Amino acid sequence: MGCNNQHNKPIYLDYAATTPCDPRVLEVMLPYFNDVYGNINSLHYYGAEALEALTNARQQIANDINVSAEEIIFTSGATESSNIAILRTIEKLKQCFFTAKTQHASIIGIADRLQALKQPVHFLKVNNEGLLDINYLEEQLKTNQGLVSICLVNNETGVLQNIKPIVELCHKYNSLIHVDATQAYGKICCDIKALDIDFMSASGHKIYGPKGIGILYCKRDKQKYIRVPRANPDIEFGIRAGTIPVPLCVGLAEASKLSHSCIDAELERIAKLRQLFIDKIKNNLEEIYINGAQTSNYPGIINVSFRGCEGESLMMESKRIAISSGSACTSNKLTISHVLDAMGVAPDIAQSSLRIAIGRHTTEEDINIAVEDLTNATLKLRSISAVWDMIKAGIDINKRFERGIYKHG
Ligand code: PMP
Repeated sequence: MGCNNQHNKPIYLDYAATTPCDPRVLEVMLPYFNDVYGNINSLHYYGAEALEALTNARQQIANDINVSAEEIIFTSGATESSNIAILRTIEKLKQCFFTAKTQHASIIGIADRLQALKQPVHFLKVNNEGLLDINYLEEQLKTNQGLVSICLVNNETGVLQNIKPIVELCHKYNSLIHVDATQAYGKICCDIKALDIDFMSASGHKIYGPKGIGILYCKRDKQKYIRVPRANPDIEFGIRAGTIPVPLCVGLAEASKLSHSCIDAELERIAKLRQLFIDKIKNNLEEIYINGAQTSNYPGIINVSFRGCEGESLMMESKRIAISSGSACTSNKLTISHVLDAMGVAPDIAQSSLRIAIGRHTTEEDINIAVEDLTNATLKLRSISAVWDMIKAGIDINKRFERGIYKHG
C-alpha cells in the first residue's frame, strides 16, 4: 500500500492536486534554512555561499529541460509564472491573447483580467477529446497576431496536447507561445529547446518538491517583454523582485533532478496502474466513461464518469480513497467542470466524473482498493438514484440540464 496507510489515512490518489515532498528533497533543503542561510545579494561570504547554491539549482533545472540557466526564472509557482509571462507580454505588445476554455483556472483568470482591461482575448476550439483544433488555430493566427497559451497536460483529464505543430504554427504567423507545463514537468519528456517554446510555467509541489516555488522558462530574446523597467537586473534578471528563497529553489532543483532521472520508468509503471484501474472498473460496472483522449495523455490522470451517480456524492461515499470530483453541487445548482463542458461532454456524464490521479507512491493494492470502494459506492448510489432509473428506462436526462443547472422535477 502507498505511503498513506500506515497512518490510517485514506489512500492518496490526488497527485495532480499536489504531491508529498520527497524525503530526499527535504534532506537536501534542510541546511539552507539554518546553515547556508545568506541573502544572495549580500557581498560577503554568506551571500556568496547562497548565490552558489542558487546558481547550481538554476543550472540543474536548465539541464533537465535542455535550456540555458539564464532562461530560468524562479517564481512562487506556475500561477505566478503564467501571470508574469502572459499579462506583461500582452501589456507590452497589445496583441490578442489566445487560449482554450479547457485551461486551468489560473489561465482562465488571466483571460478574464485581460478582458476586464479591454485587451482582445480569443478562445480556441478543442474537440470532444480535449485536443486543440489546429486548423481553427491557424485560421485565427492568419488574421490576428498574439500570444497563445496552451496547457501541455490538462489537470482534469490528463489530455496531452501535440505541442510541436502548435508551436510551429504560432511562429509561422509571428505569434508567441506560452505552455502551462505544470502537470507535465518532470513527468513527460520536455525538451524545451527542441520544442522551441517561448514561455513555460511549472510548480515544485507537483513533482514531490516544496510548495511555494516554481519556474518560468522564458526564451532569452523574449525576456524584453517581461522585464520590469528599472528593476534590479541582478535579481531574477530583472523579471521578479524580492529575496530569493534559496531552500525552496534548491528543493525544486533536487525534485526536478529526481523526477527527470526516472521519467520513462515511472511513465511505464503508471500506465500499467491506469490500465489496471480502467479494466477493473469497467469489468465491475456498466456505463463507465473515460473522458479525454485515450491515445494522447499523461497516464497518471484518469477522468472517469460513473453515469447515474453525482461525482461529489461518489467521492464522499468512497471513504478509503482521497480523490477529486469534476463537479460541485450547491443547493439545487449543479456546476459541471468547465473543462468537460468545453469538450462538449454530455452534462450527465460530466456531472458523474471523478479524477483519479496516480503518483510515485501508488501501488497495485491502492488501485484495487480504489476500484473496490468506487464499485461499492456506485452500486449503492445507483440503487437509490432516480437519475439512474431514468437512464435505465431510456429517458434522455440531458434534456433536463440547462447550462450546467439540473432542473429538478
Ligand atoms: N496549471 C495547471 C495545469 C495546474 O494543474 C495548476 C495547479 N493545479 C496550476 C497551473 C497552478 O499551479 P500553482 O497552484 O502551483 O501555482
